[in-house]
Amino acid sequence: MAFIEIKNLTVEYNVTDEKGEIHAEEALSDVNLVIEKGDFISVVGRNGSGKSTLAKTINGILTPASGEVLVEGMSTKDFSKIYEIRSKVAMVFQNPDNQIVSTIVEDDVAFGPENLGVPSKEIRKRVDDALKSVDMYEFRTNGPHHLSGGQKQRIAIAGAIAMMPECIVFDEPTAMLDPKGRAKVMDIIKTLNAKGMTIILISHFMEEAAEADKILVMEKGKL
Ligand code: ADP
Ligand code: MG
Repeated sequence: MAFIEIKNLTVEYNVTDEKGEIHAEEALSDVNLVIEKGDFISVVGRNGSGKSTLAKTINGILTPASGEVLVEGMSTKDFSKIYEIRSKVAMVFQNPDNQIVSTIVEDDVAFGPENLGVPSKEIRKRVDDALKSVDMYEFRTNGPHHLSGGQKQRIAIAGAIAMMPECIVFDEPTAMLDPKGRAKVMDIIKTLNAKGMTIILISHFMEEAAEADKILVMEKGKL
């Protein structure tokens, strides 16, 4: 069984036209893709080509209009499996400010595992380990709002790591960072993959996409 299998996936959004009528518009059409454990793939493509839609469909934030996404055989259309799917596939988004929910760094990193029902002693260890792996342990009692964009993004990544997923989907994680912040995030991504984490990296920086083993190109909702 493949780790992640995307079969004939079509995703639609409801949009309101000039007349005020709502109709469905395709954002992804007939996408097929297999991702194996440990893969490092990147996704490139113009704005509006469907990259973020694909990312959000993989962990069940969006559901297919037709076709399906299977994570270890579990369909994202099966509501009873969504929890388990999200514990296996975590997401990191472009804007770190939209991902930080707490006023103290370590609480923020603990948020994901807390929601998964991890015991508090185990959470403590996971938070410490995750903060160390993104080189932010010394900032654990700080307020995240005083940190730089790159540091905040590393906190968001630590939050994903602390959930101990098998895959992290990064949707343009460096888009808002300066070159130093970008390099640091790319180092973390490469280290995670070297340790066995499956990585899906959406990026509009070609030199970042080229770090992956395989580059997928999206155009007008097609792969
Ligand atoms: P990308 O991440 O490659 O820029 P997106 O997946 O965000 O592309 O968008 C794909 C298409 O879906 C675009 O045409 C975009 O306008 C449309 N789209 C994205 N999000 C929404 C939404 N919430 N409502 C309606 N249309 C959307
Ligand atoms: Mg996008």
